[in-house]
Amino acid sequence: MNNLKIKQKTFLPRIPNEVRRLKNVIESPETPQIDIGPHCSDPYDCDFKGTCWKHIPQYSVFNISRLNKDKKFDLYNQGVVTLDQIDLGQTDLNPNQVLQVQSEVNGTTHIDIEEIRNFTNGLNYPLYFLDFETIGPAVPKYDGSRPYQQLVFQYSLHIQKISNSEIIHREYLADPSQDPRPNFIEQLIQDCGTSGDIIVYNIGFERGKLNDLIEVFPEYSKELRGIINRLKDLMIPFQQKWYYTPEMRGSYSIKYVLPALVPELSYDGLPIKEGATASNTF
Ligand code: SF4
Repeated sequence: MNNLKIKQKTFLPRIPNEVRRLKNVIESPETPQIDIGPHCSDPYDCDFKGTCWKHIPQYSVFNISRLNKDKKFDLYNQGVVTLDQIDLGQTDLNPNQVLQVQSEVNGTTHIDIEEIRNFTNGLNYPLYFLDFETIGPAVPKYDGSRPYQQLVFQYSLHIQKISNSEIIHREYLADPSQDPRPNFIEQLIQDCGTSGDIIVYNIGFERGKLNDLIEVFPEYSKELRGIINRLKDLMIPFQQKWYYTPEMRGSYSIKYVLPALVPELSYDGLPIKEGATASNTF
């Protein structure tokens, strides 16, 4: 609290000058000559990015995976915009970032067969491939929920009992007129059985939703914890760059990984392309 008071005391006298400066900017017929920088997204993304960032190509140093924002602008300020302009001998990048740059420049795909084999050998059949969809209403619709809380209303589950066996599909889509969660839980518990790995993409999401359900419906806690303990994350091989192609553009999001691996299954061809559309449609 005292710290805030000190900050406030030093900031307050600057406000009249700052207001004058900003008024001058608004009244000036000229656009201020300010280059892009960290200020474009701090504290929020600026609405003028569409104009000021026009000279930045769709894939640039700003897409280097997990590269600190200041380092991105250091490169930009040295005139380095595209990945082929990076001097790897002079630039401090981690091994995965170097892999991303080399893959783009040389057009190569990187596959770490050993790590991928360890991952797939560690999977236990039957395999369950699970994906949740959620809604997040601003005004809570159901008891035991809060504003904007993501509530599960749909899942898709593909089941493979043994290696190379036929894939069975199960799904749940709630009736929007009632709380979707109790029926969702009951059917999920039934469909997931009691053994085998449950594979998701980005484990934090599904695990988080299951923990939310346990909080509101503790009577299902034992079964839901059993499901949580069986979750495995298919994102890991891509996040670790055990499999990486230039088309992934430094991302391990399913939206980049899927079309890179299976172009005919691109999200672009689907009537509902992502979770937000599914949620709005529901
Ligand atoms: S995008 Fe916004 S913050 Fe960035 S330079 Fe343009 S006007 Fe300034």
